[in-house]
This record gives sequence, C-alpha cells and structure tokens, in this order.
Amino acid sequence: MGFDEDGIARMLALEDPDALAALFREARAVKLAECGPGIAVRGLVEAGNVCAKDCLYCGIRRSNARVLRYTMSMAELVAAAETARRIGYASIVLQGGELESEANTRRVEEFLARIAPLGLGVTLSLGEQEPAVYRRWREAGAARYLLRIETSDPELYSRLHPPTCSFSRRRDCLVRLRELGYQVGTGVMCALPGQTTRQLARDVLFFREIDADMIGMGPYIPHPDTPLAAADTGLTDEARLRLGLKLIAVTRLVLRDVNIAASTALQALADDGRERGILAGANVLMPNITPAGYRASYRLYRNKPGGGEDDAAVRVDLDRRLAKIGESALYGRSGDSRHYVRRVDIPGREA
Ligand code: SAH
Ligand code: SF4
Repeated sequence: MGFDEDGIARMLALEDPDALAALFREARAVKLAECGPGIAVRGLVEAGNVCAKDCLYCGIRRSNARVLRYTMSMAELVAAAETARRIGYASIVLQGGELESEANTRRVEEFLARIAPLGLGVTLSLGEQEPAVYRRWREAGAARYLLRIETSDPELYSRLHPPTCSFSRRRDCLVRLRELGYQVGTGVMCALPGQTTRQLARDVLFFREIDADMIGMGPYIPHPDTPLAAADTGLTDEARLRLGLKLIAVTRLVLRDVNIAASTALQALADDGRERGILAGANVLMPNITPAGYRASYRLYRNKPGGGEDDAAVRVDLDRRLAKIGESALYGRSGDSRHYVRRVDIPGREA
C-alpha cells in the first residue's frame, strides 16, 4: 500500500484483527529501527487551567463555569521541575490554557530562567501566541513547542471552534515556531463527531507537509459540560482507542523518525491504553507530575486518569507497565526527535 491519501485511508479503515496486528507490528518495527529501543519520558506539568478560548470539545473552555480555576505559583512550578529531575525525567512539558497577556509571557520567561540550572529539556504547550512571544520563550530556553492543529480540515476545524478561532492563524503559528528554531510538535484528535477516515488521512499528510518533529494525537473523549458532547456519535471506548492506535501506527509508517507520544487520552479509554500505543509505534510517554491537588481541575475530558500518586510510585508504576511490554524508560535522556536532529544535523549531538 502506498502512502498517498488513498493508501493511508485504507490503512485507517482496517478492522480485521489480523490485519490490525500486522499494521501495529510493522509500525513498532519502524519505531525500533528509526528511534532505537526505549521510551522517551517527559514530566507533564499542567501549569494552569485558566483559558481565554472556548474550544467546543474542551472541559476547561472559558465558558465552563463548573471548573475551579487555578494557576500554579512560581514556587510550585519550580518545585515540579525539581521533581522531574529527581524522578529522572530529563525533560518536561509545560502545558496549560491559552493566555495571551504580557503577565503570562513574563511568568513563563521567569520560569524558564529559574529552572535553567536544572538543565532540563523544556517543551511548551501554551497555545497560539504572537511570533514575538514565541521568540522570547525560545530565547529564555524553551526548545520545543507542541501545538496540535486539532484537524487539518478547515471546515471541520470551524465546526469545533467558535468563529473567533482561526485555522490559518494556528497553522501560521506552526510555521513561525519552525522558523524560530523550535522542535515543532503538532497533532490531531480522532473519533471527532462528523470526522471521516479521509480527513484523518489528510491529517497525516499535513504532518508530513509541515515537516513536524513530534506528534501528539489522541481520541476525542466527550466532556459532559461542553457543547460538542451533544453531537457525539457514541463510539465505544474500545472503538475510539482502536482508531487512536491505527492513527499512531500509520503516522509512524509515513513519518518514520518523528517522536510520537502515547497520549494520556489513550489511558483514559483503557488502563493499558498507553502501552498499546507504544506497541502501535509510539516512542514517548508524558507521565503527569502536576501537584495532586490540581489534577482534578485539569479535566479536558471525562475520566482523565492520573491523580494522587506520589513521585516514587509514579516511577515504579511506569517501569512495571513498560517492563510488561518489553520496554524501558530512557531516564536521564532529553529525547530529542531523531527527525529534528537529522533535520538540523547537529554534529555529535545525542538524541
Ligand atoms: N491550550 C493549549 C494546550 C492545552 S489543551 C492548546 O489548546 O493548544 C491540549 C490538547 O488537549 C488540545 O490540543 C486537544 O487536542 C486536547 N483535548 C482537549 N479537549 C479534549 C477532549 N475532549 N478529548 C480529547 N482531547 C482533548
Ligand atoms: Fe483552551 Fe486548549 Fe482547551 Fe482550547 S483546547 S479551550 S485552547 S485549553
């Protein structure tokens, strides 16, 4: 099967268990050949759930008055980065609601300056910003940025967002991030109401077209307090998960050497969802290191897992889960995307 739109759509439509098992095995083999053994790990810090946007699918959208809003203090943020260091994650992801304010820009700059001595790789996932803001954060030490396009289909995008959100601005942000020298991550949700296999196939081609270094994807999971929940097609958790796994596998086959995360949404659908993501070709995990007290307030969708465990237990649990599938975490390694390293060709740089 070729990697044009038709070929990709055909792979995404596979349902026969033997054919699916073969697809996942092939994707896993490409992961091993291109990225090597081991799973890159990043500590995920959910820095705050105050968001200026109103994406129709998201539990922390501005209009959801049921959410208890929080913003982690600078001391808490720095402590979370220290926790990551202690656990052995050489890299963290700072994620949160989208805020375009000078105060927020400064806060992130200050955080980056404060944690610079820890030598962690830092990924930001703080939504759409002006190019000048992305530049300031890059200069302050952020090396990677995650901004999912959510769907590469402008028409579907407009059905998922209020009219004030612009698909072209989001795409332009990815181009700017690239120009500024970030390792750029993007991705989409699958199992969205009204989404077709063909649209998903075009999503994969979009990743290739913008030459993404990292991909974070996951099934859409309805959140009861959001407008999109009413439009949901009622897919079973297993069907959503299966689509998410197929999308990982196909993305691995087409893009080969990029970092692909086994997202938390997979675990929300099945306890071993992330491990199955790895067996379908993913090579990155992002265990949550947000202080336990805030986790219940960062619910993007129903059943978001991960609340309460202490740091040591997180590592024991992760090691046990990975050992079960014959994998291990690459503690102490920052885990640059091979695709990025090859793209910028940094002599002597280790992934
Ligand atoms: N505010 C930033 C980052 C936090 S949201 C941003 O939007 O870029 C991170 C991701 O959560 C989004 O990109 C979206 O793909 C995902 N998400 C939000 N609501 C979801 C839902 N109901 N089901 C699955 N994923 C969801
Ligand atoms: Fe805000 Fe991101 Fe949720 Fe949209 S997806 S409402 S930008 S947190």
